[in-house]
Amino acid sequence: MTPLPRSARLPARTAGNLLEALWQSALEFLFPPHCLACGRIGSHYCPHCLAQLPFPPINHALGEALTLHIAAAPFEGALRDAIHALKYKGVRALAPILAERLAQALAQSDFEAQAIVALPLHAERLAQRGYNQAELLARALAARLQLPHLPDAAQRIRPTAPQVGLNRQERAANVANAFRADPERVRGLRLLLVDDVITTGATMLACAEALRSAGASAICGLSVGVALLH
Ligand SMILES: [Zn+2]
Repeated sequence: MTPLPRSARLPARTAGNLLEALWQSALEFLFPPHCLACGRIGSHYCPHCLAQLPFPPINHALGEALTLHIAAAPFEGALRDAIHALKYKGVRALAPILAERLAQALAQSDFEAQAIVALPLHAERLAQRGYNQAELLARALAARLQLPHLPDAAQRIRPTAPQVGLNRQERAANVANAFRADPERVRGLRLLLVDDVITTGATMLACAEALRSAGASAICGLSVGVALLH
């Protein structure tokens, strides 16, 4: 195993994170969460319902830069609601629940990861939304797997139009050369590249290409949901 670069160490928990966590706990005390799938009180997605989700087959053919891609479940039903709640409604408590499912999906493969990278948002999009849902998942997964999370190892260097409504070729063109990765952080490492949902995988592949160009030795794409392109 390659020794991890200095930048790969887990960042210290900031006062901001602590306040955020306290606020979330207070909200959950006042408004106990219920399972999106069965309505049971106590969790945003109960372990019983999470265990009912089927694992899609592991995909080895997304593109040369990705050693393999693993999805935790099909992007439908309550899982779709959970991803929307994490992405658009700021329900951060879903991140560790979905990351647990990512860990279970990863365990279906024999990929041995050394560090975790989140699919980055462009700075403008990040400023609009206030957080990157993939980053929340990556951080929770890093804690679960006891692996370093590498924030800023990859960047989206130009804004891209939303992929919704584009066909496969248009999607690939839309995200081509949209990413850059930092060789100092990723050189020689076997990485997990985390995103919430993939459809054709064009965005994840473009980011994986940047990480490989920066010297990453292998990349396993890991997404919570996999959607079919209609
Ligand atoms: Zn449930």
